[in-house]
Formats: sequence, C-alpha cells, structure tokens
Amino acid sequence: MLYYILYESIPAKQDIPIIRICKGAGDRRGAFGGSMKKILVLEDESSIRGFVVINLRRSGYEPIEAETGEQALEQLRLNPDIRVALLDVMLPDIDGFEVCRRIRASGSKMGIIMLTAKSQEIDKVTGLMTGADDYVTKPFSPAELTARVDALVRRLGNDEEDSGNNELVSGPFVLNPRNRTLEKDGQRLKLTQIEYLLMKLFMENPGKAMSREDILAAVWGGDFSGELKTVDVNIRRLRIKIESDPTEPEFITTVWGYGYKWGY
Ligand code: CA
Repeated sequence: MLYYILYESIPAKQDIPIIRICKGAGDRRGAFGGSMKKILVLEDESSIRGFVVINLRRSGYEPIEAETGEQALEQLRLNPDIRVALLDVMLPDIDGFEVCRRIRASGSKMGIIMLTAKSQEIDKVTGLMTGADDYVTKPFSPAELTARVDALVRRLGNDEEDSGNNELVSGPFVLNPRNRTLEKDGQRLKLTQIEYLLMKLFMENPGKAMSREDILAAVWGGDFSGELKTVDVNIRRLRIKIESDPTEPEFITTVWGYGYKWGY
C-alpha cells in the first residue's frame, strides 16, 4: 500500500504545518484510453508539486510543471493543448489569481482548479470570481485532487462530444454550442466553461425550476463532491455578466428555498 504525505506551510499567523497521510490511488489507470491529457501544475512547493505530478501521471495525464506564475504562463504559451490548469494561490511572484485572470483574459476556456490554503476561505470566492471552475482546499489528498481533475476533464470532454450544434436562442441571448460562445444583443460575452454549461442548462430548460442539487449534478457531474454554495457563487458571477442589473435579475431568477430558473 502506498502512502503519500502532503504538507503545506500556512502563510501568516499559523506556523504549524498541516500533515495529512492518505492512502494512494493504487494503480488506477486513466479513464481516457491512450490519449494523454496535459495538465499544468503550478505549485511552488516542490514536495506538493511532486506528489501531484506522480498521481496525475499514474492516472494517465501528462503533467506540465511550473514553479512560478511566470513559468506557468510560459508553459501555457508552449503547450496550447493544456486542458486543465491547477493553480496554487500563494506564489513567490504573481499569485495564482493573477495567473487565472491572465489565462481568461487570453480568451482560453481551459479548465482551471485553484489550490487554496484552508485558512483562506475568501480565496474560494475570489478564485471563482476570477474565472476558476473549481477549487481544492489544502491539505488535499492526491486522489481527491485527481478525482476533481477527472470530473472537470469529463465535463469539458462530454460537452465537446455534444452532437447538438444547434444554436439556442432565448430573449437577447444566442448560445452557440459549436464554438461554445454566448452573445447578448449580438455582443459576445466571455464565459468560463462552467458559466457556459450553466447558460446551456438554463437555456435548454426555460421556465423550469431547478434545485441547486440538480444544477450541481448537471453542470459539475454527479460525482462532484463540492458544496452547494459553489452553484450560488457561479450564478452570482454569471449574473454579473448577463444581467443588466445583477441585483434585480430578469433572466436567471431565484426560486426561493429551492434553486434557480431561466425567466419567470
Ligand atoms: Ca504556495
């Protein structure tokens, strides 16, 4: 049986390193056949990066390592086929949020998972607001991280294989599954993968009240172990992009005590 030890020194206030011992993922093989999928691993602590890389490789991925934000951006330039980026937040140069912002500013729709320290609850929200699709809180087991990566890759992949290339039109919105874009009044809106999938779900189900559990399962996948508030955070962010007045939403409306729906 393999055991991994992960530790991350917590910045500021606490100086007790968190140590977690967890069982390894065994010899699980990647669920993607022979096709290697490139995953960027941005993490300045070599011990954590090493464990993450070993575990991803074991699962059939091709990890690309970066120790600093600048290195990560350079690797992304060199490897345009990177599918998912794992971004540590606390870094010696530009932080993970800034890397995330720059990736999104370049128009990339790759999957992004932020690696945040436990003491930084606020980071979760900030991370999602800058365009990340998911976050994993340290300390995490490599198996847990790989499961999140699998889920994200599956979501991205499933959607690509989507046979329906027909545009969805609702009010001022036109969603184009072929090139994964959304226009409002003819203006293209920049969406993350998650936001795109949320819009697709809403526009395919006009007027249908959907619970946060339903939305989580439909967009993040049934095996996603995240929290329901992930749905709220992403919808809040999506409203800022699509609503004229996000405080008085007219498209993604709240069904109190239940969830959300498209329109009234
Ligand atoms: Ca760090």
